[in-house]
Amino acid sequence: QPRVFSGIQPSGDLHLGNYLGALKRFAEMQDEGIEAIYCMVDLHAITVWQNPEDLRRSTRELCAGFIAAGIDPQKSILINQSQVPEHAQLAWIFNCVARIGWMNRMTQFKDKAGKNAEKASLGLYAYPSLMAADILIYHATHVPVGEDQKQHLELTRDIAAKFNHDYGVDFFPITEPVIEGTATRVMSLRDGTKKMSKSDPSDMSRITLTDDADSIARKFRKAKTDPEPLPDTIEGLADRPEARNLVNIYAALADKTPEQVIAEYAGQQFGRFKPALADLAVDRMAPISTEMARLMADPAEIDRILELGATRAREITAPILRKTYDIVGMVGPT
Ligand code: ATP
Ligand code: MG
Repeated sequence: QPRVFSGIQPSGDLHLGNYLGALKRFAEMQDEGIEAIYCMVDLHAITVWQNPEDLRRSTRELCAGFIAAGIDPQKSILINQSQVPEHAQLAWIFNCVARIGWMNRMTQFKDKAGKNAEKASLGLYAYPSLMAADILIYHATHVPVGEDQKQHLELTRDIAAKFNHDYGVDFFPITEPVIEGTATRVMSLRDGTKKMSKSDPSDMSRITLTDDADSIARKFRKAKTDPEPLPDTIEGLADRPEARNLVNIYAALADKTPEQVIAEYAGQQFGRFKPALADLAVDRMAPISTEMARLMADPAEIDRILELGATRAREITAPILRKTYDIVGMVGPT
């Protein structure tokens, strides 16, 4: 029985990478009728400093984003991580299963901690262990994410396998990453070698779901590119990360292949391609941002949705945590 889990951090405004690499896929999977849990991972967000008021607002806004992108809280389970305590409880067990050497290889920690890793929080270091718990507390089998989360998913498999091996059980499933589509790695508009991120200090590096049409047009107009026109074939994009990124974004938004986009715009200057891209992005994103704004007008309703989600989630997580504790040898209610 397949079960999907995926999470997004309420660490800032949702951007085009989150939409194309995650949210859009979630809505498609829901339409395929697969059971799914979608999570605002606030415990992950605080691995780097979050202003409490901003965190509260971002969590509600993210919930609105999920719904606006097509997630139906009746069909899927929509939760805020800290409201389902079994995530953090299982993470502790996994902290005792995962090895320090495994964590030392995680590139996201290196990227986010920067040069002064000694000053990073212990939570940022243990992040992948909590992520493994998020997934495995549901015995989820499939995890749709962007390319940047591939390494963490491999670690999730390693943790599940080591737990099963150490305790001689076949309890946690070995999860499959679902990394599909033409935009599983949307790059920054300022630097084609860095991924688009909520936490990038430059607002010009990303298109957010709350940007208006003018900002979207301006950000694409100012996006870094080389002076050459678009090539005739997809191979011509090989050494042009910025150009390739814009073509991939266009393809993903238009539900086309990059080859089709190149065929359409072969030999065209960016002066023509960028406005077409901006128009397409506005067209696809405006309905979502309008719906988000409508939902945000009633935060109490959002809180009720999250409470309902947490209640439904705990019907799954509480027995799995209890069983884990039994396997580990912890005394508890019989
Ligand atoms: P932060 O900078 O705070 O880590 P983020 O932009 O990386 O934020 P996350 O909340 O960490 O966003 O990731 C949420 C989901 O969006 C994950 O599935 C992740 O793989 C996906 N994602 C994030 N950035 C991109 C991107 N640039 N392209 C495609 N998918 C992305
Ligand atoms: Mg991230």
